[in-house]
Amino acid sequence: MIPFIAGNWKMHMTNEEGVALARRVRDLVGENRDVEIVIAPPFTSLSDVKRAIEGSTIRLAAQNVFWEREGAFTGEISPPMLKAIGCEYVIVGHSERRRIFGESDEDVNRKLIATLKEGMRPILCVGETIEERRAGKTLEVVRRQVDKGLQGIHGREIKDVIIAYEPVWAIGTGETATPEQAEEVHCSIKEWLFEGFGFEEAKDCRVIYGGSVKPENIDALMAESNIDGALVGGASLKAESFARIVNFRHTKT
Ligand code: PEP
Repeated sequence: MIPFIAGNWKMHMTNEEGVALARRVRDLVGENRDVEIVIAPPFTSLSDVKRAIEGSTIRLAAQNVFWEREGAFTGEISPPMLKAIGCEYVIVGHSERRRIFGESDEDVNRKLIATLKEGMRPILCVGETIEERRAGKTLEVVRRQVDKGLQGIHGREIKDVIIAYEPVWAIGTGETATPEQAEEVHCSIKEWLFEGFGFEEAKDCRVIYGGSVKPENIDALMAESNIDGALVGGASLKAESFARIVNFRHTKT
């Protein structure tokens, strides 16, 4: 199972800026085969960024999707549209979508299923708020999001899902979960997956960490045995920082 590092550009970068960033990332890490590298630009630059990374090992993700294939859904983007321009991954259930746009676990599940059905791989984001952590509800909340997010998927599909544990209090705040805090939750997620889908089916499902990941903390996070990669927001907007994260030092025992 190779590590998975994804950059979520969020609502940053015009098309021109995005293409320049993608080219720079490509120059720095575009031949790396030891890590699965994914970038998720805004919808407006997906096509041009795809062209900029063509021929490299970098893969393309969308930051969101709607679950219907086509129809009267003004402003939405469907799975076939993303597939057609070369997206291989889709982020679903990011905490900003849940919190700002009111996405429910059921919405996230529909998006995840629609993504898989189209032959793309969902990156399912889960994570507790600071209030939930302080109330000792971290595992309860994350378990609900994992269970509901994955509802209805078949055992053989779980290897195509990436689960991103992103504590809401660590996203964009500069505050990172300690490697031990992250490892505890990752370990539980893997146990639930093994229980629900069986070890053989679930062993290749990667559980990655997100929340203020930067060059300074990636090595310690990746040293934990159940952290299989990272979802990187802010630090993915600078090619050098993202490249340093991709080139994390391998110290896993
Ligand atoms: C994210 O957008 O998923 C994220 C983790 O952001 P940041 O790295 O900026 O905290």
